[in-house]
Amino acid sequence: MAERYFIGVDVGGTKVAAGLVNSAGEIAHRTRVPMVAADAAAGLAAVNAAIDSVCAAARPDSESWGSISGIGICAPGPLDPRTGIVINPPNLPGWRNFPLADLISKAYRLPVRVDNDGNAAALAEALWGAGGGYRNVFCATIGTGIGTGIVFDRRIYHGRTGAAAEGGHITIDYRGPRCACGKLGCIEALASGPAIARRASEKVAAGRRSAVLEYAGGHLDGITSEMVGRACVAGDQLAKEVLQETAMFLTVWLGNIVDLLEPDVIIFGGGAAAILQPFFGEIRDRLPTWCVNLHAQEVPLVTAHYGADAGIAGGAAICSEASPTP
Ligand SMILES: [Zn+2]
Repeated sequence: MAERYFIGVDVGGTKVAAGLVNSAGEIAHRTRVPMVAADAAAGLAAVNAAIDSVCAAARPDSESWGSISGIGICAPGPLDPRTGIVINPPNLPGWRNFPLADLISKAYRLPVRVDNDGNAAALAEALWGAGGGYRNVFCATIGTGIGTGIVFDRRIYHGRTGAAAEGGHITIDYRGPRCACGKLGCIEALASGPAIARRASEKVAAGRRSAVLEYAGGHLDGITSEMVGRACVAGDQLAKEVLQETAMFLTVWLGNIVDLLEPDVIIFGGGAAAILQPFFGEIRDRLPTWCVNLHAQEVPLVTAHYGADAGIAGGAAICSEASPTP
């Protein structure tokens, strides 16, 4: 049987990335074009340009070109994965009730699936990445926000209307900081990359000394989570405290997740997850305190296989799924 290929597309607020992905999850012909967020037609043209570029690169290899069996798109939510309609993404204001899947499907005469990046990344990890060999997978991407996805038996769990698995917006402190979603104390508002940077800069502003201020050229608002990670590796006490506190927030959160889902594996991806990797052991050691599940410590806590390519792999993964999940 000829190998099947998919085009995976990752639509962000500032760029569209795309690539050709085989049925083993291997990516070739990556491309990246700027996203035009303000206007619906220009945004669609950017997606088309990214797909066209992958097609042009794949065409000389006629075997893969002839067997492209679908296009999968990771798009900003909220969206409806059953209809492929993007509802009202805050960072793409032009795409209000936008029938993305239909428009792309008509243009390329291929089946098109659309899902949010948290769900898609989780499926890519479950099928081809760090979740290989596990039935029930919980995946968290910790970057500028916290995106999560739940995969049961190689299928995304979507809930009743497709809006499930917003694990980043689980409140773990109702007196905590305001999240971008409007709620208070979501794990995203406490443990995402910007939240790590904010907590470090608050401590520096309160008079604590830290290398992160030097890394930021003396500007408090220039502090990033990457600087906090770097300072921690270099032995900076404040950076270590901030990351230990972040690990504590994540432990409380994962305790809730394990009690609710009891996944076979927990996968951490995203830039901030790499910074937190030295604290995975601490998170696992403390998990039993924040969980009634007697087997919590047995759940492997692993780093995602796909880094910056998670959206491309995720796009391909959603269109390789056997059939749409309600
Ligand atoms: Zn939130």
